[in-house]
Order: sequence, then structure tokens, then C-alpha cells
Amino acid sequence: MQAAEEIQLVKDFSNLNGASGFEMEVARFFQKKMAPYGTTKIDGMFNSYVQRRENNGHRPVVQMDAHADSVGFITQAVRPNGLLKFVPLGGWAPTNIPAMRVRVRNRAGQYITGVVATKPPHFMSDAEKNAVPKIEDLSIDVGSTSREETINDFQIDTGCPIVVDADCEYFANTRMFFGKDFDNRVGAAALVDVLDNLQGQDLNVDLSVALSTQEEVGTRGAQVTVRNIDPDLAIVFEGCPCDDTFSPSWLAQTGLKRGPMLRDMDTSFIANPLFEQYADDIATKNGIPHTRSVRTGGGVNGAPILYYRGAPTIVIGIPVRYEHTAFNWACLDDFQNAVQLAVKIIQSLDASVINSFNGGN
Ligand SMILES: [Zn+2]
Repeated sequence: MQAAEEIQLVKDFSNLNGASGFEMEVARFFQKKMAPYGTTKIDGMFNSYVQRRENNGHRPVVQMDAHADSVGFITQAVRPNGLLKFVPLGGWAPTNIPAMRVRVRNRAGQYITGVVATKPPHFMSDAEKNAVPKIEDLSIDVGSTSREETINDFQIDTGCPIVVDADCEYFANTRMFFGKDFDNRVGAAALVDVLDNLQGQDLNVDLSVALSTQEEVGTRGAQVTVRNIDPDLAIVFEGCPCDDTFSPSWLAQTGLKRGPMLRDMDTSFIANPLFEQYADDIATKNGIPHTRSVRTGGGVNGAPILYYRGAPTIVIGIPVRYEHTAFNWACLDDFQNAVQLAVKIIQSLDASVINSFNGGN
């Protein structure tokens, strides 16, 4: 795929609306982009699947995964003044929410502009200025002056999902993307790019791709996709949080322009160490910059995929700064290197390589 196409793909995926549980738009776009490379379908949870056109059904099955959803919110109730009381979908820090611009999907499926309401500093006491807000006390204002107007005219009521409102920009001089939801739309775009790279090639494995839903609320979609695919090995793409702006350099394990990150461990998952080292060696052999990480927080779709039937699984992280906030940075080079690493790994796989990760028997 040409760089210009990759840039457009990342921008398009970033701009889509897909809070956890409401990934229809992302699933449909993914299906359209994947149509040239295989047969596609979407299940009742909006998980999207692609069977690579060249699969023959007689080779080991490799599952590739990324998640479609982003952190967001859902309307719990409309307050008497017309503002929305909301609850989070996925992990938010309360300090990152106030004054954010959002889009609320109304009952008619239209996106309505809103803002997380804040009291102007003019009215704040010193204590209020320094306090961390409680999410349950926050509201979203769509420009309505009453509960009736919000419900009847805006068609917003209980159950309407809410996402960050930001348009993705690409800065050619620094090769940086700036926008929302790079966790994990960069992973979704990478899946398309991998299949584009491999189109028409002879492989020794069958490739089954899933863009799974509801990752941010507990890796729920991947629990379903792994059962439908039943893989012998899995590679998970994830937009992974950078620590390069606040960790000392010797400890920073995910950074912009440092290449994809291979995650050894987080709180949900320990990668198969034989497959992990294999991927590290392939990256080194091909001159692909990369890092390894051991995390004391976080969770990934690698966990439900691994736990289903023990298929060797790794996570290839694309570094993203300021995940789970309104605005993120990510670098085109890291995206391209993550795609290339996955492509090189897949091209090298066959039944005996996969078997060598199963305890070396
Ligand atoms: Zn993620």
C-alpha cells in the first residue's frame, strides 16, 4: 500500500464513531475496505471477520485481531435542565473529561455536537478549582434548555452513545497523526494494510482476520471471535499507550518513532515466550526497530484468544501518545513498521514453526 493510501486509511478509521457496543460504523467501513482481499461477514455483536481469499482450509489457521471500539460514554438519563447524565464506556480518568467536545448519537442515528459542561472559573471557589471532578457529577450539554427539548427535539435519551469529537490530521513534515481513537483504529488500519501486502502471495497458513468489538469494556468481542475462528496461532494489533513522555528513557518501553512494541506481559496476558522471541528475531533480521514491554497495568485481546485453546499469541503494539483522552499522537513510521513486522512473521510461518512454539515438541 502506498503511503498516501495508508495515511488516508488511518485518518478514515480515526474519524469513525464506534464507542464500545456501538461499532456498526467501524464494522461496515472495515468490511468495505477488506472486500478486495477475502470474504467478509459481521456477527450480531458487530465483530467483523475476513477469510483471506487464498485460504484453502487445509493449513494451520492464524488469527489476526484488532479491536474496533474506542472508549466513550453512554447517556444514562436526561437531567431536568436538558443536560445529559452519562456513564463511561471503558477506562477514563475524570481529569481528562471536562470541557471535551463530543458527538452524541441520537435515537435517529444522527450525531449531535455537545460539550462536557463545566462551571466557568468566575463561579468556582478555590476548592472547586483544585478539585478532581466525579464522573457522576458531570453532564453533557448539546445546546438544549430543557429535558423536553433534549428528548423530543434532539431525540436524545437513555442509551444514546457518546464519542470524542475530533478530526484526524496528518503532518507530513513530522510524519505524525493527530486525532482521536488511535486505540485501536491504527490497529484496524494495520489489518487492512497487512492483507493488502499479502494479496496473491502463497502462504503456508490460512489467515482469518477479526476486528472485534467491546475490547474496552473487558475484551468481550474477542471471546466470541476466537471461538468462531479457533486459531492455531494469533497476532493481535493494539494501539499501545506510550510512556516516553513521563518515564526515564531506560524504563520507557513504548515510544513514538521507536517502532512497534512486543508486549511480554500485562495484567491480563503473558505472551508465548517462544513466539515472542521469534517475532523479536524477525524484526531484528529485517531491520525493523522495535521495543519489548512488561506492563503492570492494561489488558489486551491476546488474553481471551490465548485462554480459549492456548494458541501461541503475541501482541504487536503501535505506539500512541495520550490514549483514552480526546487527542492522540501516532507516527506513520511506527504504523508501517508494525505492518511490515506482521507481514514478515506471517510469510515465515508454517506448521512446523507453529508447532515449535508449543513447548518445542
Ligand atoms: Zn486498545
